[in-house]
Amino acid sequence: MRKAFFGLLLLLPVLNFGQSNYPKDAFRPPLDIPIILAGTFGELRSNHFHSGIDIKTEQREGLPIHAIGEGTVTRIKISHWGYGKVIYIAHPNGYTSVYGHLQKFAPEIEDYIKKVQYRKKSYQVEVFPEYGEIKVEKGQVIAYGGNTGGSSGPHLHFEIRSSISEKPTNPLLYGLEVRDATNPTLSKVYGYPLSENAIINQSQEKIEVDFKRQEDGTFLAEKVHAIGSIGFGFIGYDRQDLAANRNGIYSVQTLVNGKVYSDYDFETFSFGETRYINTLIDYDHYGRYRQRIQKLYKDPSNYLSIYNTLYNDGKLEVREGLSYTVEIFIKDLMGNVTKLVIPIEGKKEEVKINKNDDKTENYIIAKKPNNFDLGGAKVYFPSNTFYKNFYIDLKKDDDTVTIHNNRVAAHRNFTITFDVSNFSEAERRQMFIARLNSSLRPSYTSTYKRGSTFTTRTRNLGTYTLASDTVPPKIKPKNFKDRQWLNNYRYLSIRISDDLSGIDTYSATLNGKWILMEYEPKTNTLTYNFDDVILDEKECDLVVKVTDNVGNSSTFTSTFFRK
Ligand SMILES: [Zn+2]
Repeated sequence: MRKAFFGLLLLLPVLNFGQSNYPKDAFRPPLDIPIILAGTFGELRSNHFHSGIDIKTEQREGLPIHAIGEGTVTRIKISHWGYGKVIYIAHPNGYTSVYGHLQKFAPEIEDYIKKVQYRKKSYQVEVFPEYGEIKVEKGQVIAYGGNTGGSSGPHLHFEIRSSISEKPTNPLLYGLEVRDATNPTLSKVYGYPLSENAIINQSQEKIEVDFKRQEDGTFLAEKVHAIGSIGFGFIGYDRQDLAANRNGIYSVQTLVNGKVYSDYDFETFSFGETRYINTLIDYDHYGRYRQRIQKLYKDPSNYLSIYNTLYNDGKLEVREGLSYTVEIFIKDLMGNVTKLVIPIEGKKEEVKINKNDDKTENYIIAKKPNNFDLGGAKVYFPSNTFYKNFYIDLKKDDDTVTIHNNRVAAHRNFTITFDVSNFSEAERRQMFIARLNSSLRPSYTSTYKRGSTFTTRTRNLGTYTLASDTVPPKIKPKNFKDRQWLNNYRYLSIRISDDLSGIDTYSATLNGKWILMEYEPKTNTLTYNFDDVILDEKECDLVVKVTDNVGNSSTFTSTFFRK
């Protein structure tokens, strides 16, 4: 074990040199509480690698967030999804820190962004302040932790990017302290027969490899019998000491007979390549079981830059009569290592599990554009929509089109066009293209209506149908009643919802003046803060208008009093 580990360190001088370039003392932590991670950098997420770390905030909102170093605010964005309320600070040393899912900004910055919101009459805004316009000191409170945007519980999403390339880098490389003496967990290992003639344990299909923990803490797999070109993949995660969260691991090395075959890590990557995660994981397995197997070999369509070393793309050519030792090292950034050894014997055996290739009428050649007319609906896949050639399953049934299944990933958008000439103008107005999820619930997809066709662009394979939304959105006050005195109220809270196509726009006025309503889609809530506008009128007429994605709209009016 010790020998192997030292051998490994000697093999990775580039990696170690790279890591030492990050300033270790330049920054302070963004929070005053100990850093406990709910997510690591490079963690495998849907269609992307996590580009920062998620820091737990004691399950609550409102904790002060500090600038990690002196700098200038270069970007502030507020959106319903994604990062929610987010702020970017450029530091003089060439790095930009990013703080996401914020509840609100510190007063000065809050004033700045509210002015923009009132000027643009929009909750969702994005601004790029002039360099030096909003300066911050190291440690200055810039915001308060929250749960805005695509966040499923209070936490701080924190990134450190290169200011020039905008590439996110692993924030733990800058000397932030995280308690972690726990080795990564290895859950499952799979062998993949890759060449035409390849067989692993009598299977031409991917097969699970059993392994056991040894006395020294390493893992040993049962001997594998194989022939041809093969590869391996695993399911694993990393836990830190103080939380049960299953986070992503930092690096993986695969050695065959002592030689490095593949070595990748999450030191940095670019946003442009992040969707290639779908070539790193076994996407078919993910579609079936929602579990991500990381492949230790590189597919031809995998353009990820995370590899430090690749030999034969990480694939092992197994010859009859020879034996091989595969060693896999799974590491976290604190240096905790989980080691698995897989002994392999080159042996051609009788095949018991044959390759299953489901042939259909339609074959996709990934490098070429592919057009299909299904009668009443058309599907167009531009070249390189897919990572590989395959038999695609296309079905059309009344107003429903099924495009294969969720076990194939699309890298680029493709278009689905429905012929709606059978419907009247009035019907078409309330119709849209919906995607049906696995429980057949329809969800709105952006629908472009042109003449007698509806078109949507999507990267999700699955079932699409024409749906109709005839019911306008609902608007209901949550914390007040009509004609009530609201003297001690700090905010107005209103529930808005739509049954099918979803909320598109919302706006509100007080005595005819536009007011900022903060929309939180996760709780279907609009909130108006009484601090925003000092009302000198006693009687206030509130008007709230909400429109759904096909244009049905509702208006709510109420009068309240305030002195
Ligand atoms: Zn995050």
